[in-house]
Amino acid sequence: MTRKIENQNLIIASHNNGKVIEIRDLLSDYNVMISSSEDYGMKEPEENGSTFEENALIKATETSKFCGQVSLSDDSGLCVDALSGEPGIYSARWAGPEKDFLKASKTIEELLIKDGSKNYSAHFVCVLAVCWPDGESRVFKGKIYGDLTFPPQGKLGFGYDPIFIPKNYDITFGQMNPDVKHKISHRSIAFDLFSRELLVEKK
Ligand code: IMP
Repeated sequence: MTRKIENQNLIIASHNNGKVIEIRDLLSDYNVMISSSEDYGMKEPEENGSTFEENALIKATETSKFCGQVSLSDDSGLCVDALSGEPGIYSARWAGPEKDFLKASKTIEELLIKDGSKNYSAHFVCVLAVCWPDGESRVFKGKIYGDLTFPPQGKLGFGYDPIFIPKNYDITFGQMNPDVKHKISHRSIAFDLFSRELLVEKK
């Protein structure tokens, strides 16, 4: 039988307050109490994995060991086909310490121009890892496919949203009503898989 996470703390392995708030919101219909690894005074572990799965598991495993509770982490990014999947797990790092995603988007555009590529297809990935203090773990993955467009369009969302047009749409995530984005995104797909399998709805 599947092990459920019900009526207990779920520690989000992140010091990013925005991410913790978004996750608390996404899980508000379920019977779990959300805290963050920062609330427990934990330092962020080094993300030295070579895949989204490895990095998500590093964060969730370290957090559940440190806090002695079930932990949830997410690792996400943008993979550009013509750039062999880059920036991928380095999506946040391409924006530098100043978190300048317009600069990171410009870098992607320049690399595509330099390669003379006509292939602007890309996808976002979100991997969620859940880890229990006894070492058991589960991983859930969501992806959304689309095409890149330059210059960036739209001021909604975050990160690479203004350069990504999801398949079957003609506007970028940056121009899209967030309610629509949150129904189709890589993150919502991964969260649906996770919550259906491991959570229990509030009565
Ligand atoms: P993480 O917090 O280390 O997982 O970094 C993920 C990075 O991927 C973010 O900083 C964004 O640059 C990018 N990213 C992930 N999901 C999205 C999205 O839904 N829209 C735009 N950018 C995203």
